Amino acid sequence: MEKTVSELLKEYQSLQSKAEKERDIRVQKAHRTIPRLKEIDDTINKLGLECTSYSIGLDSQSQKEYLKAFSQKIKQLKEEKLALLKEHGYPSDYLDIKYVCKHCKDTGYIEYKKCACFKQKLVSKAYSQSNLGNILSRENFNTFDLDLFSNEKYQDYPKTPRQNMLDILSRCEGFAHNFENDNAENLLFYGSTGLGKTFLCNCIAKKLLDKGKLVLYLTSFKLFKILEEFRFRPTDALMAKEQLDYMLTCDLLIIDDLGTELSNSFTTSELFNIVNSRLLERRKTIISTNLKPEQLIDTYGQRVFSRMSAHYTALKFYGRDLRM
Ligand SMILES: [Zn+2]
Repeated sequence: MEKTVSELLKEYQSLQSKAEKERDIRVQKAHRTIPRLKEIDDTINKLGLECTSYSIGLDSQSQKEYLKAFSQKIKQLKEEKLALLKEHGYPSDYLDIKYVCKHCKDTGYIEYKKCACFKQKLVSKAYSQSNLGNILSRENFNTFDLDLFSNEKYQDYPKTPRQNMLDILSRCEGFAHNFENDNAENLLFYGSTGLGKTFLCNCIAKKLLDKGKLVLYLTSFKLFKILEEFRFRPTDALMAKEQLDYMLTCDLLIIDDLGTELSNSFTTSELFNIVNSRLLERRKTIISTNLKPEQLIDTYGQRVFSRMSAHYTALKFYGRDLRM
């Protein structure tokens, strides 16, 4: 754990210096193309230095006036800079440092507290899910393709698979959009495989990660494996304990493919614990499963099922397998 933290802090340092270097390169480029811009920057620097040395010896009234004139001048120069950038076709933030995380400016901390991006990195390390970022850059609300779903009547369903998916999609976008509201909303995706359930989990995960939320995505197979290690293999218990804590406390837990694990009384009671404690703490959860509701009862029992039916919005996926 300690090692992970110091490794991550090193990563942050290199992120910061990368962002600063890239900014410097942009500044140099802009100075070459727009010489007036360099003059302005030089003037701003000079004024800044003067301001510190001049204002010290003045009485308070003159100091006030001096500072007022100073900030007026700086403001003017900055406005001229922006106008120049615009005139030459540069975006207005062209000369700013572009951090990966704008919340903590790639320091990992906000006022001595770990930034959500830092916690997310710790989670990712703990679960070695470092490839999450790659998946999410491919699978998100922007890349979701509604046209993949047929617009023809399917079996006895009143809505076509595409209309149904449109409803689901807006439900999911709403879920992500209103995530900060304490509305106790949880989602249950059910229906056969190959209908975009995992894809939608990823869409929501991406949206919330961008908002700085702590998201944990686990297949049910992995989830129960971790729980098993924690309960039955004390040697790995410390690591598993940390993973378990994240399961209970992360902002959003996604359990994908519930029902594909080997279920038994252990998995049943563990699932109940997780679902129930997250409900009590009003933390949101998304569960996706290929099981039908009656199979959920058979596999996990009435206790889990009644929690889900009372507190989860069930969204049914149907249509032809998209992977065909
Ligand atoms: Zn951050």
